[in-house]
Order: sequence, then structure tokens, then C-alpha cells
Amino acid sequence: MLKVALTGGIGSGKSEAGRIFQELGATVIDSDEISREVIERGTEGFDEVIAIFGDQVLTNGNIDRKKLGEIVFSDKLLREKLEQIIHPKVKQRFDFLVSQASDSDILINQIPLLVETNGASRFDKVIVVTAPLEKRFERLHAKGMPEYEIKRRMDSQVQDSQRLAIADYVIENNGAKEELLREVEKIFDRLKVDASNH
Ligand code: ADP
Repeated sequence: MLKVALTGGIGSGKSEAGRIFQELGATVIDSDEISREVIERGTEGFDEVIAIFGDQVLTNGNIDRKKLGEIVFSDKLLREKLEQIIHPKVKQRFDFLVSQASDSDILINQIPLLVETNGASRFDKVIVVTAPLEKRFERLHAKGMPEYEIKRRMDSQVQDSQRLAIADYVIENNGAKEELLREVEKIFDRLKVDASNH
């Protein structure tokens, strides 16, 4: 099994690229999605988050990730506490999904904070999606994310140069979606070669 990380700054187009990889036949795991699942109502993670953050992070009985985000973005200690709850559970779930995949699979893990969490060594290959800052900003804005939120999230992530330093493959997502499709197809072909040599 070839284990591949797919990373990039917020708004670069990771999810879009991940969706295309999945259509092409890769098994795609989205770390963001898993990190939501592990604190859903009824989970151990939910109880642990409420024990630390209290009812203030709830909306209609569910953990409101926006409220949680507001708190941890301005408090490093609480952010670390939240990470201590979420990260091991994400890893456990990831390991389970890996154990379910077949040996011939190309397994792609969409992981926003790969560099920030020193996670690259767990993977055979790293793909980095890049796009100019203005484009990323534009796309996230079009999606409805407020400007201050985009800026804050970008500021909390490393710069593209640090991601590019660990990249085996780079997808420059600065054109239309059709161009992204072609880029992803090209890289998927190369991954198939990597998988056969693995
Ligand atoms: P990420 O997962 O890296 O944060 P997304 O894949 O969610 O980024 O992309 C952010 C937004 O930009 C989404 O609404 C997506 O549909 C859009 N988008 C991504 N790539 C392109 C592109 N090449 N052209 C136009 N819109 C794009």
C-alpha cells in the first residue's frame, strides 16, 4: 500500500484535489472530517471536550466547531489541550481505516497541518497543493468565510515554502478546475508507478 499525504494551506484546493483522486480510484481519508467525527455527540471525545470547555461550546447540544475555534485560536494552552484530545483519536481512526484498505491501494490522507504536526515521516509520498494567496483568499471568501477568519487561519499555518520543502509532488492550483483535474490525473499516474515499485 502506498501511503500518500495531501496537504496545502487553507483554500489551496486540497479537498477539491482529494475529491478528484477519489474519483480516479484512490482511497481518500480526510483528517478534517475525522477530527469532526471523533468529537460528535455520544463519543468519548465529546465528553472530554465538554469537561474542559464546558457548555459554552455547544449549539443545540452539539459541539460548535466555530465556537471552539474562536476559543482555541486565541489561547495556545487550550489549543494544545484540544489537540491532545483530538489527535490520538484521529490517529487511531486513521490506523483503523488503513487496516481496512487493501495492499494494492493508493491511500491518500488529506491533512491540512502536516508540516505543523511533523507528520510527513508516516507517509511514502507527500503532495503539496499550492495557489497564490490572493486566489486562496478569493475562493474562501466566495465560500462565505469572513475575511478576519481567513487571515487568522492563514496566520496560524506555516507558509507554502515550508510545505514545498517536504513535497515529492506539487500541484499548482492557480488555474481553472479543469486544469486541476489534469494536474491530479498526471500525479495519479505517477503514484501508480510509485505503488508498483513500492
Ligand atoms: P482546502 O481544502 O485546501 O481548504 P478547497 O478544496 O476546499 O480548499 O478549496 C477552497 C474553495 O475553492 C472551494 O470552494 C473550492 O471549490 C474552490 N476551488 C478550488 N480549486 C479551485 C479552482 N482551481 N478554481 C476555482 N475554484 C476552486
